[in-house]
Amino acid sequence: MSVSEIDTDYLVVGGGATAMAFVDTLLTETDARIAIVDRRHRPGGHWNDAYPFVRLHQPSATYGVNSRELGSWTKDEAGLNAGFYGLASGLEVLNHFDQVMRERFLPSGRVRWLPMSEYREGPGGTHEITSLASGDVAQIVVRKKLVNATHAQTAVPSTHPPKYAVAPGVNCIPPNRLPEIRRPHPAYTVVGSGKTGMDTCL
Ligand SMILES: Cc1cc2nc3c(=O)[nH]c(=O)nc-3n(C[C@H](O)[C@H](O)[C@H](O)COP(=O)(O)OP(=O)(O)OC[C@H]3O[C@@H](n4cnc5c(N)ncnc54)[C@H](O)[C@@H]3O)c2cc1C
Repeated sequence: MSVSEIDTDYLVVGGGATAMAFVDTLLTETDARIAIVDRRHRPGGHWNDAYPFVRLHQPSATYGVNSRELGSWTKDEAGLNAGFYGLASGLEVLNHFDQVMRERFLPSGRVRWLPMSEYREGPGGTHEITSLASGDVAQIVVRKKLVNATHAQTAVPSTHPPKYAVAPGVNCIPPNRLPEIRRPHPAYTVVGSGKTGMDTCL
């Protein structure tokens, strides 16, 4: 395990939608150098865990970063959303953030992307990141600001066991596993009536 030092103006913790939009604007409006750290292997935050049939619930062009449009303001011609502006799939959202990272952030020479790394505050208010792959530790010298883009604390059902008891004999699965169904069940009960529950019913 080695210890190195990284010098940056902004250290952004989290590589989800919030962080990506913030860094995109920093690149446009400042000359700052930015380091982004995330424990995941690619940008997009919770979209990496989402069920495979997830879509945005608003027109694609209203989501993502400012410098690059996600979607093209075209209206769907078929399906449940016919007549309305297209809703990007989870894969399209992930692809958007991946392209922004590869085609804008990294070529700018001002962004350092540190995936699969855990941030923690070190002793005396210092900043430490640990590579989840190698265990190597880097001390980050932050010239301007630490930006915590993890407040959403988003967690989808596939990432943890249910927070309620499940009776023996009940087959309880997260929405991520619905596409694996090969035999119809006589009945389904959906726990939760938010966006994920609605998507599951549809
Ligand atoms: C299924 C689902 C569908 C949604 N659909 C929509 C939609 O259609 N439209 C909409 O506007 N919103 C939607 N949302 C809301 C969504 O939460 C926001 O749009 C947005 O994606 C949140 O992004 P975020 O960057 O704030 O958080 P996150 O995506 O949670 O990203 C935070 C990141 O921080 C990282 N992290 C946390 N702590 C550390 C640490 N100590 N060290 C390193 N990394 C760390 C995590 O690994 C994570 O990648 C949806 C949410 C869910 C769950």
